[in-house]
Amino acid sequence: MGFSTDAIHAGQPSDPLTGAVTLPIYQTSTYQQDGLGRPRRGFEYARTQNPTRLAWEENLSTLERARHGVAFASGMAAISTLLQTLQPGDHVICTDNVYGGTYRVADRVWRDFGLTFSFVDTSQLELVEKALTPRTKLVFVESPTNPVLRVSDLQALAGLAHGAGARLAVDNTFMTPFFQRPIELGADIVVHSTTKYLNGHSDMVGGMIVLNDSELFERLKFLQNAVGAVPGPFDCWLALRGVKTLAVRMMQHDRNARELARVLAADARVSKIYYPGLAAHPQHELATKQASGYGGIISIDVGSEANARAFMESLRVFLLAESLGGVESLVCHPASMTHASVPPDKRLQLGITPGLVRLSVGIEDIEDLLRDVNGALGKIPAAKSPV
Ligand code: PLP
Repeated sequence: MGFSTDAIHAGQPSDPLTGAVTLPIYQTSTYQQDGLGRPRRGFEYARTQNPTRLAWEENLSTLERARHGVAFASGMAAISTLLQTLQPGDHVICTDNVYGGTYRVADRVWRDFGLTFSFVDTSQLELVEKALTPRTKLVFVESPTNPVLRVSDLQALAGLAHGAGARLAVDNTFMTPFFQRPIELGADIVVHSTTKYLNGHSDMVGGMIVLNDSELFERLKFLQNAVGAVPGPFDCWLALRGVKTLAVRMMQHDRNARELARVLAADARVSKIYYPGLAAHPQHELATKQASGYGGIISIDVGSEANARAFMESLRVFLLAESLGGVESLVCHPASMTHASVPPDKRLQLGITPGLVRLSVGIEDIEDLLRDVNGALGKIPAAKSPV
């Protein structure tokens, strides 16, 4: 089936009991058994199995063109559970500019349990090659990265990881399977914060791991139940509802972001712009080759924290908030918000300066977004009174 057809139907048949076209929210913690050791339909307890959650797992794994999906209570629970499949002494290569929470859980939780990490710029293949060791079990990549939108060559990284006996995992939150399907490019594992574009309406928090490897899938299912970082059925239902419109939303996010990026790139008050859809982006060609769109995230540097504050606080349509990927436009200040847990010197090295602002471009009318951004740029003090 085509992508949009799968988004609407995969894992979501009409209800066999009533014919309801919308899958029910199985809001139950347990299931009656017909006799001792005889669960009626294989369902025993809702941490272990829930029909709404199973539907969501089937839906997203179908969209990523993978065999298995394992849902979690958040993107961080998914990433943390993936790291839990490793053994003390195992080595992980991780994109240096990952989401701050991913860096934090690696550096401040899993390091203490004996995992070792090398944070490298995975857009530079030779750096990844150099960082591989006989103990490397996982190469964990975000592409494009949050928030400076660096793009890594997923096909080449899969080759490097496999050559060293490691797996490649890709955080596909920014692109979604509508624009980029890492499994088809050779990745072994895809992780998502389903909180973002997949749900698309900023009304739940969730995560997912999808993969083909049945043995690793069994281990992840075991951990999902044993550790219990599971999403509730209502959140799975919200994600299932949201994903039905993923294709039309992503096209509009992408259209709006391309137009806004074009205007921002030409504005003298913007000292630096990060958007893979611009020809000047260092990995523009690669982004065009491995994904079918550029997504809705743009980061700009407006020179200083004071400028960033004046800009963000003057926006009216863009709401100042953490998160991204919802229908509404959001703005955030990575240095003090999403990436506050990354040490300051490391932040600067990555380009997460005090003047960096991240825009999650929503699907509102582009005229309103342009007016909002132009008005806010006019409030930057440096622009009013040049030295
Ligand atoms: N991965 C990326 C790229 C993110 O942007 C985020 C959150 O912002 C996460 C993972 C973590 O997801 P969650 O907030 O659902 O735990």
